[in-house]
Amino acid sequence: MSASSLERLRSAIRDVPDFPQPGIIFKDITPVLADAELLRLAIDGMAEVVAGQRVDKIVGIDARGFIFGSMLAQKLGTGFIPARKKGKLPWKTRGLDYALEYGTNSIEMHEDAITPGEHVLLADDLLATGGTAGAALQLMEMAQAKIVGAVFFIELGFLGGRDKVSSFGPVHSLLTF
Ligand code: AMP
Repeated sequence: MSASSLERLRSAIRDVPDFPQPGIIFKDITPVLADAELLRLAIDGMAEVVAGQRVDKIVGIDARGFIFGSMLAQKLGTGFIPARKKGKLPWKTRGLDYALEYGTNSIEMHEDAITPGEHVLLADDLLATGGTAGAALQLMEMAQAKIVGAVFFIELGFLGGRDKVSSFGPVHSLLTF
């Protein structure tokens, strides 16, 4: 992806200070989603990093990971698996609790979503502390996926989330702040 395309994407992201709580600068990606050309650039850029690799399914994390993950699945011709917040999936699930900066959270996947040995890629909008992505990757590992890696639209490099997820496979992000 060209430097000018990356710059266009970067400048479309809106910083929202003190959302959802004081001290957090929220990276609002909705201006990218709302612009047909930027949306295409974002998905093409995320697809580029796994070009030529076998990918059978993409796991997307609730909720913005559903947007990026499912478009990426369409682009790459793979299936899509939602990793959802606790209590949302209707079938038999496997779940994990993970630590947030304050408190804990948990995500679940259907236990039959991945067939052992399938090549599975994780996708989400943003890598912050890596707690969420780390839990999703652990669930993928428990399902005996062959983990292709993880791809993010944005990485907040200063939070060091990459260290929590890089042991599972290659970590790619389109934009780093
Ligand atoms: P973490 O588990 O800390 O890596 O947090 C990752 C999840 O929280 C991602 O799915 C993001 O959607 C969301 N998130 C965390 N920090 C931010 C931020 N500064 N701006 C936008 N979304 C964020």
